Amino acid sequence: MRVRSEEKEKNKMIYCDNAATTRMSDAALIKMTELMKEVWGNPSSLYSHGQRAKEVLEEAREKVASAIGAQPGEIYFTSGGSEADNQAIRSAAELGRKNGKMHIVSSAFEHHAVLHTLEKLEKEGFDVTLLDVHENGLVVPGEVEAAIRDDTCLVTVMYANNEIGTIQPIREIGEICRRKKVLFHTDAVQAVGHIPVDVRGDNIDMLSASAHKFHGPKGVGFLYVKKGIRLTNLIEGGAQERGKRAGTENVPGIAAMAEALKEAVGGMKVNGERTAALRDRLIEGLKQIPHSALNGDAVNRLPGNANFCFEGIEGESLLLLLDDKGVQASSGSACTSGSLDPSHVLLAIGRVHDVAHGSLRLTIGDDITEDDVDYVIKSVREVVELLRSFSPIWRDLMAGKKEFIL
Ligand SMILES: *Cc1c(COP(=O)(O)O)cnc(C)c1O
Repeated sequence: MRVRSEEKEKNKMIYCDNAATTRMSDAALIKMTELMKEVWGNPSSLYSHGQRAKEVLEEAREKVASAIGAQPGEIYFTSGGSEADNQAIRSAAELGRKNGKMHIVSSAFEHHAVLHTLEKLEKEGFDVTLLDVHENGLVVPGEVEAAIRDDTCLVTVMYANNEIGTIQPIREIGEICRRKKVLFHTDAVQAVGHIPVDVRGDNIDMLSASAHKFHGPKGVGFLYVKKGIRLTNLIEGGAQERGKRAGTENVPGIAAMAEALKEAVGGMKVNGERTAALRDRLIEGLKQIPHSALNGDAVNRLPGNANFCFEGIEGESLLLLLDDKGVQASSGSACTSGSLDPSHVLLAIGRVHDVAHGSLRLTIGDDITEDDVDYVIKSVREVVELLRSFSPIWRDLMAGKKEFIL
């Protein structure tokens, strides 16, 4: 149902989908193109042009490591967050299998890169406990502790959720895992570059991150693995990444990622505060729409995330109509849009199917202004009203034939 709105504003584009991907920063873009042109050697080659590429690679490793409080030797470059998640979990599982520990603790609202890897491991005989994330979208550390058994080889809980933006009590969970001597992995793809992450202070053994979520290029990310933990290869071949990830390194992409991360961490405090203030303005504005609700905890959430449910409408039509007004947003995650199933994250926080279908995720970046936020609020309000005006569910709700949930 694509209604071309007459008031479609030509060329207007307010990008509110930074959880799906971000625009590359100028510094990262310049770094990447310069290196593609000038340092195109293979870092494994012994002649000077290859060695120059090797230097670029190792400089990037140092920058990335220092951004999260790690040592350069603990960083493995990957093709992105999904690969890092897969390798971390697979590695912990193989270590567990060797020691007769085949139980894994995770949460119900992880990214599919984690959930689908866990499903695969279950088919191989692993036992997986998925923790409840409750109505506020937060894992309770005491419940992690209670779920850990003598045969638990891994706890994997995401740092911040990609749909509802809730920030997990990672430090507390890490502390429990350290005490119980269980490996702790966190998918920190939404956190790194957005909120402070310190692998030592947070007691993290393994961490996944992805460049395109913090204004770096797509197709590049990294896995932090604490010294002494043995990785299992997903890709066999050459001896790149200390023998743990074969394939000629994406030198320009990796260097651009390091540049983007350095920039993101440098501007984190100022940008984070500014973005969080705009997010709160957005949340306040959207709350005024009748029968709407914010998804996830209002306080422990990423600076740019506002995720709402609106009763009586469908998310997909909402997105298309917003697009006509120049507002680029998402319902649920990019990975599941296109499927008609409601988001597993919204179901995990207890939203019923009908309500979960009417969800909207707005993830703003630091390029947005107060005027933009006000325009987004106005646009969402208009579109919700329009969709409700021809929604049979809304008609039933208004006629009292159905009970409002929100
Ligand atoms: C985007 C995302 C991923 C996947 O990262 P890619 O680099 O796109 O593979 C994994 N986990 C979370 C939480 C994400 O937001």
